Amino acid sequence: MTTKGEIINTARALGFEDIGFTTAEPFVTQRDLLANKRDEYDWATQVGLDLLAGTDPLSVLPTAKSIIVLLKAYWTESLPPSLEGHFGRCYLDDDRVTQDGMATKLKAFRGFLREHGIASKVPFNLPHRLAAARAGLGTFGKNCLLYANRVARRSSWVLPIAFVVDREFVPDEPTARNACPDWCRNACVAACPTRALKGNGTIDPRRCISYLSYYGEGITPIELREAMGMYVYGCDRCQNVCPRNSAWTAQELPPNRRVQAKANAFDLAALLHMDRAYFEANIWPHMFYMSADDIWRWKMNAARAMGNSLDERYVSELARAFRENDDERVRGMIAWALGRIGGDAAIAVLDDIGRIDGGPSERICAEIETARVAASAPSCGHLST
Ligand code: SF4
Ligand code: SF4
Repeated sequence: MTTKGEIINTARALGFEDIGFTTAEPFVTQRDLLANKRDEYDWATQVGLDLLAGTDPLSVLPTAKSIIVLLKAYWTESLPPSLEGHFGRCYLDDDRVTQDGMATKLKAFRGFLREHGIASKVPFNLPHRLAAARAGLGTFGKNCLLYANRVARRSSWVLPIAFVVDREFVPDEPTARNACPDWCRNACVAACPTRALKGNGTIDPRRCISYLSYYGEGITPIELREAMGMYVYGCDRCQNVCPRNSAWTAQELPPNRRVQAKANAFDLAALLHMDRAYFEANIWPHMFYMSADDIWRWKMNAARAMGNSLDERYVSELARAFRENDDERVRGMIAWALGRIGGDAAIAVLDDIGRIDGGPSERICAEIETARVAASAPSCGHLST
């Protein structure tokens, strides 16, 4: 019979920073939260994520007795600033599709359990952060993230991975509580540009940039476009400003060559102009929450980030993309981005695209008009006739 000590040693040898054990009891508080906030979490069911079922480990493995949680620090090497500014760090070296990084270690760990007669499941819909806190690995911040208790300088740059197993282990002491210092004046709440954080340790996920960037429906509402800033996929703002993370953030880290090697593929202009083949070869294997059918959302997000960059060098890219895309959501955002950048070159393009091919749709005309106002330009002839 394998022991907790042997399991801990195996996980450490595989490179996991911390390991905890908890029972397979249902996550009652999470179940109640989901039941009471159906409107905030309905989207998850629509994208195939049954969060409610995930609150009961027995629904995942009917013979479940315990949950083993492994903690992996995911920002141990420095990442190119050109990527950190646009993408959540946890996605920059995500191998869930390529299966050539952490996935190999997870497979090895499950192999070890199997060799010792322990069946395991790694459910994607289980509340992993809550499982980690219940296993004594971390506490929560008011940004709803998990902060490690013993590793990664107690920061939130950690990924918990929960294994539901059919073997009983003595559970570790739970630490599922908020542990923010009294002196922090809710920096994360104040910094959240879309007001997703409510200040009481809960979040409206539908207002979070992460959700909006990969699941938001239709063109991003105008009142959120500037607030979403430069992020294209994910957001780290509430972690960047958190004093609980400063000990980790202040470090000099060695470069992550693997991520560096793919930086050019994620250039904003490349994203704005990409076709399906480019997306499937270069983007989807690393950031896969949106399928090729949702490529419009990538382009819309890239256009919005270009607008918020206020960088005039993007005007010609936006002009080209307007002509090459017929998706109204992309075109609308391109018009907005041009208005946000402003200046003579952007105004000239807004004039030009307002006249193409008999004129764009009424909806795009409205976006162009709004953009022109933002760029302090007079109305275009097309719109005033
Ligand atoms: S990830 Fe960004 S948008 Fe989401 S809660 Fe944090 S700061 Fe707000
Ligand atoms: S910014 Fe302050 S309130 Fe927010 S998680 Fe960090 S310590 Fe807690």
